[in-house]
Amino acid sequence: MLAPSYLITAAHIVSIAYERRGKPCGGCAAACDRIMMRYPYELPPLPFGYAALEPYIDADTMYFHHDKHFATYIKNLNDALASHPELQDMTLEELLRDPEKLPKEQRQTILNNGGGVYNHNLFFKGLAPPQGDAPRMPGEQLMALIDAAYGSFEAFKKAFSELAASVFGSGWACLAIDGGGQLRSFKLANQETAVPNGMATLMLFDVWEHAYYLKYKNLRADYIKALWNVIAYPELRLI
Ligand code: MN
Repeated sequence: MLAPSYLITAAHIVSIAYERRGKPCGGCAAACDRIMMRYPYELPPLPFGYAALEPYIDADTMYFHHDKHFATYIKNLNDALASHPELQDMTLEELLRDPEKLPKEQRQTILNNGGGVYNHNLFFKGLAPPQGDAPRMPGEQLMALIDAAYGSFEAFKKAFSELAASVFGSGWACLAIDGGGQLRSFKLANQETAVPNGMATLMLFDVWEHAYYLKYKNLRADYIKALWNVIAYPELRLI
């Protein structure tokens, strides 16, 4: 049973703040990134060096993943929106929330690349250099939600690792919080996002081969195991 102080409602979701460079971002900057990202999209800089996640994620993978793959989603999204001024004032979340509102001929392109921008923005913000050999751990409030939903952090790690390993082909494992303050974990195919379900994404494991193949080749489970050492858990704040 959660103590009332850990109850997070839909109105609180905007207060979810991500750690950056190992320290809290100040409360609103990450929320602004989540909500305010809009055309023309720019590649958010990596907040640490390419080699900062070694030995868990190698520098080559970080360089190609961020500077090439992520950058390509940004470019393709901008290209898709360039001839649609009516979509340029919408935030990224607004674009992704209701696909039926998107022009039919550009819909899948915008969903694919907008989803790629949305997921990668949160994925890279959710990484941080390892802290020696000690695994990085969630803060008090997220830990309380995990304990309530899974029984223990170890049980959560096991379940989420199995979820990520079970993604067929390219996709993501996603931990999100719904409007009722409940944790949800599920798979996303390709560049689907949690946005149409009205959920705030807390953590993403990218299991596209481009996220791990240079170092781990076909051994996705080894990559998933390593990823736990470089996750910067979001800090949940109540407003
Ligand atoms: Mn990726």
